[in-house]
Amino acid sequence: MGNTKKHIQSERPGSSIQCAFKVSIIGCGNVGATTAYALLLDGTPTDLALIDLNKEKAEGILLDLEHSLPFTSFTKLTASDNYDECTGSSIVIITAGKRQVEGQTRLQLLADNKKIFRDMIPKIAAAAPNAILLVITNPVDVLTYEALKASKFSSQKVFGTGTMLDTARLQFHLSEKLKIHPRSIDAYILGEHGDSSFPVWSSANVMGKPICGFTGFSQDTANQCYKDTRDAAYRIIHDVGFTCYSIATATCELVKNIFADTHQVFPLSTLLQNYYGINDVCLSVPCVIGRNGIVQTLQIPLSDDEKKKLAASANLIKSLL
Ligand code: NAD
Repeated sequence: MGNTKKHIQSERPGSSIQCAFKVSIIGCGNVGATTAYALLLDGTPTDLALIDLNKEKAEGILLDLEHSLPFTSFTKLTASDNYDECTGSSIVIITAGKRQVEGQTRLQLLADNKKIFRDMIPKIAAAAPNAILLVITNPVDVLTYEALKASKFSSQKVFGTGTMLDTARLQFHLSEKLKIHPRSIDAYILGEHGDSSFPVWSSANVMGKPICGFTGFSQDTANQCYKDTRDAAYRIIHDVGFTCYSIATATCELVKNIFADTHQVFPLSTLLQNYYGINDVCLSVPCVIGRNGIVQTLQIPLSDDEKKKLAASANLIKSLL
């Protein structure tokens, strides 16, 4: 347990209305540091706490980020190796733990990261009893379930980024083929954030025009876009050693939407209860997001094949809980 180092004690200059929105990031590795950077540039959090077992690492990243403050909106930054630093957080983002090395699947991280979660989550929950817990650490679906049980928070408050990232990847690869902006492409990946994920082609569309109705867009093109999506992390880990920019950008988008209570819909890993008959497992389905977390999950139409794939994802994840 180290001493909390508070570098900046002042309130936001130039602001007469103080609306505190504290975000804590547990784990200041590639993902945690990049997420902190994205949030600092975005300016949504009033307070940003960086927490890592490795105190020097947290403090070094803190100092580097602090030197950006003359060019950003003012955010109160702190660094610590103590989970109590989360106190007062609206959102605690969890990236702590082992990451994949080349040749490893996300599921192979389970034993190590489950142990970390069982130790860490009760301490975070005690320090920040009103926070939303946003899980990024892999395997994200199993660890979201673990965080839910260990925190004893409501499922509205504990969820994982899940297939939000896979969906962004699919939308990008489709946009390249269709020559249409990714934001205009209504196509999702659901299920596990991992190899048993699946694209929902049955409802994929652009402004109501089915994706499969586009000239030159074949089943082979669809299959290739999904393959590029599913294998993206393996490819990037081969080339770079880790992924961080896309997950950090997705997380920043999520934090902004939580803060602004937008009720936007994202595919997120959430506890399923009677979702196409699936119970008591965390997997990604479309979720409406608000200031208090998940407002509702949407049971969208799925083809018989997609229902089978969702059930297969659920069975796989359940076998690991
Ligand atoms: P990293 O090794 O760079 O960083 C992990 C950090 O966690 C390290 O700084 C380490 O000191 C810290 N840590 C370990 N145990 C801790 C504990 N008990 N308390 C506090 N801090 C602790 O790894 P990374 O590349 O940042 O990846 C982090 C995790 O995010 C991995 O599990 C990775 O697979 C996952 N990830 C998920 C997604 C997603 O879409 N869900 C995307 C990318 C990475």
